[in-house]
Amino acid sequence: MSQPLVLDGRIVAKAVESDLQQRVKVLVEKTGVTPVLATIIVGSNPASQTYVKMKGNACLRVGIEPRKIELPEETTTEELLAVIEELNQDERVSGILLQHPVPRQIDEQKCFNSIALDKDTDGVNTASFGSVTMGGNGFKCATPYSIMTILKYYNVELSGKHAVVIGRSPILGKPVSMLLLNENATVTICHSRTKNLPEIVKTADIVVACVGKAKFVQKEWLKEGVVLVDAGYNAGNVGDIDLENCAEISSAYTPVPGGVGPCTIAMLMSQTVESAERKYLDI
Ligand code: NAP
Repeated sequence: MSQPLVLDGRIVAKAVESDLQQRVKVLVEKTGVTPVLATIIVGSNPASQTYVKMKGNACLRVGIEPRKIELPEETTTEELLAVIEELNQDERVSGILLQHPVPRQIDEQKCFNSIALDKDTDGVNTASFGSVTMGGNGFKCATPYSIMTILKYYNVELSGKHAVVIGRSPILGKPVSMLLLNENATVTICHSRTKNLPEIVKTADIVVACVGKAKFVQKEWLKEGVVLVDAGYNAGNVGDIDLENCAEISSAYTPVPGGVGPCTIAMLMSQTVESAERKYLDI
C-alpha cells in the first residue's frame, strides 16, 4: 500500500486563520467594528486556563478582540446565567465561549442553552445543534466542525461512505455524526453499550474516534484503506486510536498532536467572525 495521507490540522488551521485575517480587515474597514470574543472561565482548572490562553492568542492573530471573564470556583448557576445574559445584551460582543468543564455545582447545559444563538460561536446550545442537524444556519460545535473542515480541505469523499463514530457526547460524537450524515455519509454511532464494536468498525470507510480512551482503536479492527479521524486527546499526547500501528493500513489519518485539536480553535475564530459579518455586513 502507498503511504497514508497525513490530514494535518495545523496546515488547515493556518489556511483558515489567514482567510479570517482578511475578512476581519474588510469588516473593520467597512464598519469600524472589531469582533469581540468573550470567554468565560469559572475556577482555576489549569488545562482550561491553557485552552483559554490559546484561544486568546488565536483571537489576536486574526484580529478579534479577546475579552476574558474570570469567575470564582464557587460561582452558582444563577450567577453564571446573569453574566451570560449581560454578554447576550452587549452589542459589542460577537461570540460567547463558556470554557468547559465548569465546576460541578453548575448546570452546564442550562448555561450553554442560555447563550444567544447568534453569539453561540462554540456551538454548544441545544438549539444550535438542532439547527445544524436540520441543515439550518446555526453555529456548529467547534470540534466536529474542525473534523469536517479537515476532511473537506483534503477532499476526503464522504458521500455514500460508511462512517463509524465511536462516542456520542453532546460536544463531539453526536454533532459530528449529524454533520457527516448531512454530507451523505451512512453513519453508525457507537458507544459504551455497543455490542461487537470491532466487527462494526471493520465495515467502516471512515472511523471517527471520540472515546476519551488512549489508543483504544486497534489495527485488527480496521479495513485496509480506512480514513482515520482521531479526536481524542489523552495524557501523554496520545489520541483514541493506536496510530502507531493503525496509520499504516489507513489511506489517510489525522495525527495526534497536530490533527483535530489545532483546527478546533480556528473554527471558534471562524464562527466569531461570521457572527460579526452576519450582524454588520448583513451576510
Ligand atoms: P466523553 O463525553 O467522555 O464521551 C466519550 C464517549 O465515548 C461516550 O459517548 C461513551 O459512551 C463512549 N465510550 C466510552 N467507552 C467506550 C467503549 N468502551 N466503547 C465504545 N464507546 C465508549 O468524551 P468527549 O468529551 O466526547 O471527548 C472524547 C475525546 O475527545 C477525549 O479524548 C477528549 O480529550 C477529546 N476532545 C478533543 C477535543 C479537540 O478539540 N481536539 C475537544 C473535545 C474533546 P456512553 O455515551 O455510552 O458513555
